Amino acid sequence: MQLFDEPRLISIVVPCYNEGPGIDVFCRKLNTVLAKLPNYRFEIVCVDDGSRDDTLNKLLTISLNDRRYVVIELSRNFGKESALTAGIDETHGDAVIPIDADLQDPPELIEVMIAHWEKGAEVVLAKRSNRDTDNFFKRITANLFYGVHNQITANKLPKNVGDFRLLDRVVVDALSLLPERQRFMKGLFAWVGYQTVTVEYVRQARKAGKTTWSGWRLWNFALEGITSFSTVPLRLSFYLGALIAFFTFTYAFFILVRTLIFGIDVPGYASLIVFILFFGSVQLISIGVIGEYVGRIYMEVKNRPLYLIRRVHGRETLETDSTAGAAGYPVGVVS
Ligand code: UDP
Ligand code: MG
Repeated sequence: MQLFDEPRLISIVVPCYNEGPGIDVFCRKLNTVLAKLPNYRFEIVCVDDGSRDDTLNKLLTISLNDRRYVVIELSRNFGKESALTAGIDETHGDAVIPIDADLQDPPELIEVMIAHWEKGAEVVLAKRSNRDTDNFFKRITANLFYGVHNQITANKLPKNVGDFRLLDRVVVDALSLLPERQRFMKGLFAWVGYQTVTVEYVRQARKAGKTTWSGWRLWNFALEGITSFSTVPLRLSFYLGALIAFFTFTYAFFILVRTLIFGIDVPGYASLIVFILFFGSVQLISIGVIGEYVGRIYMEVKNRPLYLIRRVHGRETLETDSTAGAAGYPVGVVS
C-alpha cells in the first residue's frame, strides 16, 4: 500500500572486492532491470571493500554519470559481512536488496522480489534451486553445514539461501538493533524473522574475477555460524566427559573384579598409553571449544567498529531528497 505520492525508494547494496573485470557489466545489467521498474526510485549503494584493482575507479566513474549510485570507500578490506553491513547502514530505502557484484545473483529477480514485497512480504528470500555450479566438495560441505547448524541451533537457516534477498525497512531497522561485532549475516537475517516469502532461481557461475572463499575460509565461516547461534559445542564437552567417566568407572570395576579373582596383572603399557593420549586429546579439544567462545567474547568486548569509511561518494546528489537524512557524510568512524 502506498501512503504518499512520491514513489517508494528501493536501495540496492553491492559489496565489491576486486570486481574490476565485471563491475561495468553488472551495473549495465542492473540498470536494464531497474529501467523496467519506473514506479520506484532507486539508490545503488556500492561498497568498495578495499579492492586492490580498479574497482573503485570504475565505481566512481559510474556514480559520476548516474546520480543513483553511491560509493562507499572502506579504509581496507573488511570482508563481505562487514562490507554488507556498511552498505546496509548507509541506505535510506523503504526496502533494501543486497546483491553480489559477480552476477551470480540475477538482477532480474529484483522485479519478482518487489512484487512480493508489494503484496506484504517483509523478507523475500532468493533460494538457489540447485547447486549445479558448485563442485562436489562444496555441495557436500554446504549440506553438512546446514545439517549440523540447524540441528544444534534454534536459529534455523533456510537451506541454499545466500545474502541475496529483499528486506523491508522494518527488518533493516531490526537488524541494526543486533549489537554483535562478528556478524554472521545469514544467521542474523534468519534470527530477526518477519513475514518471509521464498523465490527460487538458478545460480550461474561467476561471470568474471574469482571467488575469495577458499575451503579454509568457508570452514571458519561455518564455525562462526555455529558459535554465533549455539552453545551446544560447550555443553558437548560436559556430556562427552560424563560418558567417558561412565566407561572409566565400568572399566575400573572390571579391573577390580579381575584383580580379586585372578590376581595382579602387570602388562598394560599399550592400553595405558592409549588411554592417556585419548584423554589428553579430549581435554585439548574441549579447551579448544572453550577457547573458541572465549575468543568470541574477547572480540565482542573490544567493541571495535565493524568497518571504517574513508569516504562516501555521490551522496551530495541526494541532498535535496527528503529521505537523505543528515546532510554531509564526513570521513568518519561508523560502528
Ligand atoms: N566481497 C566483499 N569483500 C570480500 C569478499 C567478497 O565485498 O572480502 C564481495 C564480492 O565482491 C562479491 C560478493 O562479496 O560481490 C560475493 O563474493 P564471492 O563471489 O567471492 O563469494 P561467493 O559467490 O563465492 O560466495
Ligand atoms: Mg560469487
